[in-house]
Amino acid sequence: MVKTRIAPSPTGIAHIGTAYMALFNHAYAKQNGGEFLVRIEDTDRARFVEGAEQVIYDSLEWLEIPYTPTFRQSERLPTYKKAAEELIATGHAYYCFCTPERLETMRKEQQSRKEIPRYDRTCLHLSKEEVLKRLEAGEKHVIRMQMPDNEVIVWDDLIRGHVEINTKELDDQVLMKSDGFPTYHLAVVVDDNGMEITHIIRGEEWISSTPKHILLYRCFGWQQPAFAHMPLLRNPDKTKMSKRKNDVSIPSYREKGYLPQALRNYLCLLGWSHPEEKDIFDLDEFIKLFSFERMVKGGPIFDSKKLQWMNGKYIRENMSVEQLTAALQPFLVPEFPADLLPKVLPLIRDRLVVLSDVNDLTKFFYTDISYPKEELCWKKTTPAEASEFLKAALHLLTSIDAWEAKRMEPILLEYCNSKEWNRGAFFMAIRVAISGRSITPPLFETIEVLGKEKTLQRLTSAIEVLS
Ligand code: GLU
Repeated sequence: MVKTRIAPSPTGIAHIGTAYMALFNHAYAKQNGGEFLVRIEDTDRARFVEGAEQVIYDSLEWLEIPYTPTFRQSERLPTYKKAAEELIATGHAYYCFCTPERLETMRKEQQSRKEIPRYDRTCLHLSKEEVLKRLEAGEKHVIRMQMPDNEVIVWDDLIRGHVEINTKELDDQVLMKSDGFPTYHLAVVVDDNGMEITHIIRGEEWISSTPKHILLYRCFGWQQPAFAHMPLLRNPDKTKMSKRKNDVSIPSYREKGYLPQALRNYLCLLGWSHPEEKDIFDLDEFIKLFSFERMVKGGPIFDSKKLQWMNGKYIRENMSVEQLTAALQPFLVPEFPADLLPKVLPLIRDRLVVLSDVNDLTKFFYTDISYPKEELCWKKTTPAEASEFLKAALHLLTSIDAWEAKRMEPILLEYCNSKEWNRGAFFMAIRVAISGRSITPPLFETIEVLGKEKTLQRLTSAIEVLS
C-alpha cells in the first residue's frame, strides 16, 4: 500500500510549506488508495516550541487535508539508540568523543587551508578497548556514520529524474547527539522504515541528505522508498519563501479570512498545472489528475496577488449565501448590527477579497463618519458646486417615500442631466457624503440599506462641512 508522510518540526509557526507538502502527500496517497501520515520531528530540542505541534494539526484540519497522526520522535528515543548501536555493531558507525572545542579548532584550520570542513576521523581509529574505557568513564560522545570514501549514490527521483551524489562530498554524519537524541538523518530513516513509508515527497532542500538516507537503508538492510523532491516555494524575487517577504504562517491566512478551499487550490498550482490549464478546481479533481510528470523542478513563486484573486473568486462564485454568511460570522466585529449582514451581503460580495474585508466595507453603515471638505470635491469641483449637488440630492431624496434604489436613481440622474452637471462629480459628492469613502458598493443600493433618516442626516452634515 502507498504510504506517504510529512514530518514537520514544531519549531515555530505552522509554515505554508508544510501545507504545501501535506497537500501533495495526501493527494498522492489518496489517488493510490493509500494513507497519508503525520509524525512530529521534535528531536531538535534547542528549536522546540511548546504548542507548535497543535498549531500544525489545527492548520491541517482547517485546510481540510485528511491525515493520520502518528507519534513524536521524542517518544521513541530507545528505538533510535538501538538502531545506532546496531550500526556500530555492523561497522557502519562509530563513537566520537571529540569535544565541540576540538571540532571548532579543526574546522578553523581546514577553512584556513581552504578545505571543505569535515570531521577528520580521529575517533574512527580508536581501539575497541579505548572506546569502551571512555564510554564506561561516562565521557560525552556522539555516534557518527562512517561514509564510504568514494561511492556514487544514485536514485531515480520522481520529479527530478536521475540524481547522483558522490559520498566524497559527505561528512561522517552525526547520527546520535551527546544529549541522547538522534539527529534528523537517523530518526527520519528509522521512522520512515518503521512506518512503512513507500514514497517520500519532501522539499528540495533535503536532496543533499538523501544519499545519507539511502546509505542508511542499505546499512540496515531495509527496502528503500521512492523519493520525490518538490520545488521550493519562492518569494517574488525568487529567494526562498521567507517571513520577511511573504506571509508564511498558515494561521495568519486563516485569521485574515482566506478560505481553506482557495488556499488549497492555490497551493495545487505551485509547481503543478492542470492538464486543461484550469485555475479553479477542487481537491477531488486534483487527487484524480495529479501526476509527478506535470511537476516542474524550478521553484514556483508564491504570488499573494494571485491567491487574493483566487480567494475573491471563491467568495463570489463558489459559495452559497448561507455558506458565506456562516464563514463571515467569526470575522464580524462585536459592534456589527445583528440584522445588517443579509442586507449588505449582496452589495459587498463582489468586493470581498478576504473575509475580514467585511468590516472595512460595511463600517460606515453603522458608525459615525467624518471626512475633510476636499474629499467631497471630485477633481476640479469647487466646494460651492459640491454643496449645490448635495443640497439638490437632499431635496430630491427627502421627497421619496418608497425608499428603493430603483426609484432614486432615475430621479437623481434626470436632475443631474437637466442641470448639465458632471455626473462623476455629482455622484462622488453624494457617495462621500453618505459613506465617508470614495469607493463603496453600488451607490443607490447602499443608500437604500443605509435608510432614509441616516442618508438625509449625512447629506445635511456634509453640506455643513462645505459651508
Ligand atoms: N523535519 C523535516 C522538516 O521539518 C522533515 C524533512 C523530511 O520530510 O524528511 O521539514
